[in-house]
Amino acid sequence: MTTTPLAPGDTLGILGGGQLGRMLALAAARLGLDVAILEPEPDSPAARVAAHAIVAPYDDPDALKRLAGLAKVVTYEFENVPVAAVETLASLGANVAPGARALATAQDRFEEKTFLNAVGAPTVAFAAADSEESATAAVMTLGAPVLMKTRREGYDGKGQRWVEHAADAAGTFRALGGVPVIVEAPAAFVRELSVIAARGRDGAVMVYPLAENHHADGVLRRTIAPARASPETAAQAETIAIRILTGLDYVGVIGVELFELLGGTLLVNEIAPRVHNTGHWTQDGCAIDQFEQHVRAVAGWPLLPPSPHSGVEMLNLLGDEATDWRRWAAEPDTRLHLYGKREAKPGRKMGHVNRLRPL
Ligand code: AMP
Repeated sequence: MTTTPLAPGDTLGILGGGQLGRMLALAAARLGLDVAILEPEPDSPAARVAAHAIVAPYDDPDALKRLAGLAKVVTYEFENVPVAAVETLASLGANVAPGARALATAQDRFEEKTFLNAVGAPTVAFAAADSEESATAAVMTLGAPVLMKTRREGYDGKGQRWVEHAADAAGTFRALGGVPVIVEAPAAFVRELSVIAARGRDGAVMVYPLAENHHADGVLRRTIAPARASPETAAQAETIAIRILTGLDYVGVIGVELFELLGGTLLVNEIAPRVHNTGHWTQDGCAIDQFEQHVRAVAGWPLLPPSPHSGVEMLNLLGDEATDWRRWAAEPDTRLHLYGKREAKPGRKMGHVNRLRPL
């Protein structure tokens, strides 16, 4: 579908009202666009900086009609929005970017890895299973230890378990809820990296420098960017990103999580069809950050080269860590980003800091 670009004064719709939606809304505002947020929770971080807030479930027909009435272009800030909602918006005349295909692919780990391999983006070996018997067979084929993950709705390390012996496969399958799973060979990685990339409506692609990521309990704690990487590794990441973006006929920013093996070979762990936590460093390390780049892409504006100008250590502020905001606000060469969440539940992403250093 060809769309006329959004012009200043037009409204961009966003499904999801969390911190990513908030930072997208702030970037959109800087370009003169209004934002309409659809989010089931009232008083969401994004709604509080948006011109319009619709509080309703994502699949509420009236809410989708209202959103399509306000916004010619709609995007989303997390990948578990129902594909049906995106299809409904499209049928109501809204242009949804990234499209339903990218969303459906990223929602199912088996579809995702199958797609990645089909476009020449390497992953670990994997197999799907939907019963205790097929789970056991998959573990035996791949050879324990393996990782068993639910095909859908896992995030931040939830919905996945290691299987140390084939005899444990059936029990693990049951423990994960008896739902369809993917069984993955272990990646013997030395580092976890990620690459943020964008594709415009005209097919132009921009790829950000690699970032190095550190997790604890499955949650991102720290990103160092640009990551030290050989030119060959950087070139691999760029090739992988371009293959994925082109293969999905993608419009917008994507986050690609990578495993770096000894020797520098990259495997794709997963893709996120949206702005990504490991791209927050771009806010203060690049001339054009991931949020503005995403708004430009979906709005049909020209993409610009990221033009990194500073090295960044990004730290997520989880739960109570954000109560230390005075300390971070007083630290030189540090940009503090707070999401305005009312309640600091343990582990909840409350904000982040970007600590700058010369490149
Ligand atoms: P995911 O939810 O798939 O991003 O996985 C969360 C974390 O589990 C990753 O960041 C890795 O640290 C680890 N992990 C996931 N898949 C694998 C794998 N196949 N081999 C080794 N570690 C993995």
